[in-house]
Amino acid sequence: MEAQRELELKGIGASPGIATGPVLLLRADDHPVPDYALPADGIPREMLRLEAALLETRRQLHDIQTRVGEVLGSDSAGIFEAHLQVVDDPSFVDEVYREVRVKRRNVERILSDVAERYARTLLQMDDDYLRERATDIRDVTRRILGNLAGGGRDLLAGLETPRVLIARDLPPSEMVAFDRRRILGIVTELGSPTSHVAIMARAMDLPAIVGMSGVCGKLADGERVILDGVRGRLVVHPTAAREEEYSRIARNRAVIQKRLAKLKAEEAVTRDGHAVVLSANIEMPSDVDAVQARGARGIGLFRSEYLFMGEGGEPGEERQYRAYAEVARRIMPESVIIRTLDLGGDKISAAGKIPEEANPFLGWRAIRLCLDRPALFKTQLRAILRASDHNPGLRIMYPMISSAGEVDRANALLEECKTELTAEGVAFNPDLEVGVMIEIPSAALTADLIAPKVKFFSIGTNDLVQYTLAVDRVNERVAHLYEPTHPAVLQLIRHTVEASHRHGIWTGVCGETAGNPILTPLLLGMGVDELSATPPAVPLVKEIIRHLRLAEAQDLAEAARGMSTGQEVFECCRTLVRRIAPEILELAE
Ligand code: PEP
Ligand code: MG
Repeated sequence: MEAQRELELKGIGASPGIATGPVLLLRADDHPVPDYALPADGIPREMLRLEAALLETRRQLHDIQTRVGEVLGSDSAGIFEAHLQVVDDPSFVDEVYREVRVKRRNVERILSDVAERYARTLLQMDDDYLRERATDIRDVTRRILGNLAGGGRDLLAGLETPRVLIARDLPPSEMVAFDRRRILGIVTELGSPTSHVAIMARAMDLPAIVGMSGVCGKLADGERVILDGVRGRLVVHPTAAREEEYSRIARNRAVIQKRLAKLKAEEAVTRDGHAVVLSANIEMPSDVDAVQARGARGIGLFRSEYLFMGEGGEPGEERQYRAYAEVARRIMPESVIIRTLDLGGDKISAAGKIPEEANPFLGWRAIRLCLDRPALFKTQLRAILRASDHNPGLRIMYPMISSAGEVDRANALLEECKTELTAEGVAFNPDLEVGVMIEIPSAALTADLIAPKVKFFSIGTNDLVQYTLAVDRVNERVAHLYEPTHPAVLQLIRHTVEASHRHGIWTGVCGETAGNPILTPLLLGMGVDELSATPPAVPLVKEIIRHLRLAEAQDLAEAARGMSTGQEVFECCRTLVRRIAPEILELAE
């Protein structure tokens, strides 16, 4: 067979690492195609499955055609006529039957391959009408595949070999169900490095690229790719020379990673003796292993909302208590900050409790939702309070605070829970510390008013950048405007840190900037006390801290005050890192 031409596609590097292998294309709203060999006696059953699925598809199409015809007229219903023609096309259907027999693979795989062949042939025609038939074939195939799956949604069912997933978007509620061993990496058309698909990929140590516009239309299932999550490159049909180049890069990075792994037991202290609290972010109780394996000091952010996204819907007090207590116990003697529910934005629970909104990031999200649903909020607060009995370093943190009044209301509910638990004779830590996320400019600007009500701040740069610069954090079209080093963002960080210190409390950063080693000197230079990063980034950040002098970080932060663009600030950060720990740039750019 003639070798396919190599093609290089560019997106936004979202999670480091190199993945090489075949792709699995998840077209919008569809299921990945199961792919497995049939036993010799499995063919008749497969034929019956196809027959039943075709019958059901025909029935559905007739139904829709009638309903659409009644409402919109027969012109609009015509598209379904075209779909019916595909289902009734004997050459198409016979080819599927024949290949199932010959290749002895499951009908989904064969159907999908035959349909894709037909569609591609049609796309090469000169005739507009015929080219449009390609879309009909793909649409109707999706419908038949859906019927074959019987409505099931196991995204990776039947995969024999791990794949690089290619999708338009991957909601966090689907990612939490992924079996990590079946996936080599992820590429999405939508999203930016701070969308939750990217955050989860990093937490899962899964190489990822986001914002690769149009990629779904450029690939077919099974095509071989190399994904470079550092540089945001996807090489399709790599040549042998290219494969060799990337395995060299991967080997080089592995050597650096191996050296960094030795830092696990080392302290995060600068060369001039300044100790930094370097902790890690988790999404699930099972992530505690990764925190410990990477040598972080405790957990600076436990995104509790992921418990609400898995199977089983909304967890009650008992289920939540067990999860929080497990984390609290396992992370001992280190501490853990449990963030209360931050549903909304791009994190929608599988139970689908949040109504669709025009501007979800500006809408009913996080503490707003919790204050409007006190029963839901108090269930969580009680579970966290009970878990606090297992670890004196367990703290609680409210997300998306926009004013001091919200802190008062949340604290009042917390007090109610304490009173109830005391009356019930249930143990909890009465001195449990409360903190807030500073991730909305109004909170940063009023940090002096909020500080007296809490024991710490944690800056959520992911949202702080989006809300300060009016740049949707999941919209790849404006991703180039998303600048954590923008002077406005830096002013808000500086202001927050200074306000906290004036009031004798500390400030951490738990947004993704905390895990970007290039920005470590800048954050420390601005006086940030704690950094909480995604676990795989912890060794990189620690390496920078250990090569840095606090004085030079402060000089950098001071110099940044006079710079007018985020780009200029970023370049200075990179220059400093190149000087003190150049190898890190291999892993972080
Ligand atoms: C943030 O906004 O920086 C943050 C840490 O929270 P999340 O990414 O979950 O919104
Ligand atoms: Mg946030």
